[in-house]
Amino acid sequence: MDATGLGAQYGRIGPEVARVMAEVVARGQFILGPEVAELERRLAGRAGAGHCLACASGTDALLLPLMAWGIGPGDAVFVPDFTFFATAEVVSRLGATPVFVDIDPVTFNLDAGRLGAAVEAVRARDPAMHPLPAAATAGAGLRPRAVIPVDLFGLAADYERILPVAARHGLAVLEDAAQSFGGSAGGRKVCGLGCHAAATSFFPLKPLGCYGDGGAVFTDDPELSRTLASLRAHGRGRDKYDNVRIGLNSRLDTLQAAVLLVKLNILDEEIAARNAVAARYGAALAGSAATPPAVPPSRISAWAQYSVLLPDRDAVLAALTGAGIPAAVYYPKPLHRLAALLPLGYRPDDFPVANLASERILALPMHPYLTGEDTDRVAGEVLKATMRVVRGT
Ligand SMILES: *Cc1c(COP(=O)(O)O)cnc(C)c1O
Repeated sequence: MDATGLGAQYGRIGPEVARVMAEVVARGQFILGPEVAELERRLAGRAGAGHCLACASGTDALLLPLMAWGIGPGDAVFVPDFTFFATAEVVSRLGATPVFVDIDPVTFNLDAGRLGAAVEAVRARDPAMHPLPAAATAGAGLRPRAVIPVDLFGLAADYERILPVAARHGLAVLEDAAQSFGGSAGGRKVCGLGCHAAATSFFPLKPLGCYGDGGAVFTDDPELSRTLASLRAHGRGRDKYDNVRIGLNSRLDTLQAAVLLVKLNILDEEIAARNAVAARYGAALAGSAATPPAVPPSRISAWAQYSVLLPDRDAVLAALTGAGIPAAVYYPKPLHRLAALLPLGYRPDDFPVANLASERILALPMHPYLTGEDTDRVAGEVLKATMRVVRGT
């Protein structure tokens, strides 16, 4: 079974991709060619955001707004404990401290009900109120500055509840939409949900992927947009040899922008196809031991992953692998137990929901080019394996 769908997708758009790439090569403007500006215009329009700036990766798309806000040592940035490492890595990279928040057991996203307590615990320097990193109780403690909710597996986080809490505490909100571009909430598109900034990734396996690395930042704030444009180009000022701040080299290749313009044309169809696959999985697995994430009403997931919780995940994973079905675990460890983040000083049993998710979660094959037959076979093997586990055979 095709694990990614990229081959089937190429079968569909291959000739057009070849044509636009040949055009870029013939023209020779490999850096910030007109395709990049056109892509930024179209992405901003689609998301309903005032500004879009393409950059070199989803990780840089998270890093750049934090840099623009001057996040650094002594600052606390609130991050869900169950996500890809990069969400917290960018915080530590700047010398700031990630303060983890447990996830909601139903959506797997940041538990909005715990965010306020986490901020207050940092202010009070009191780990009895919420698990805190060692830096929050040492020296002068930490200043709460920002929160990075993650739209995990393609489902927008609960911004309706997060944004008011953030506003009350003066936190900047950076949406990590690396997995969710193409999704929506309350009729508004991801990356246009009212956060101070949003970051997405064009890594090949994301819902909108290019043929290499790429990312983009979205914001409605014109001043932030100007700062981001400077930061991604070595902190340029009036021109590229007038450097006014310490920045990065973080641009999207013209070739990747050309590929993305082609893929953007079929994104809505692909998101609809992913939703059809998810619905078919959901119907087949209903009432079984495999629990899929619930999509709250008025949200449409981009279904980067279709992950279910299973009481005996490792046995089911082995059975699926044996049947030639490409299943995978995202993520085998919550952030607070990753080696690179152990120095933060959390305890292993902090964040019980994230801990349980890491033991039970299993991603089934998910892409727009799975057939009904594929989906039924996967669901059938999951049901067979969970029954075997229950019977103990
Ligand atoms: C993929 C991903 C990133 C990083 O994106 P890259 O383009 O790989 O740098 C950040 N956050 C989350 C949640 C991701 O899934």
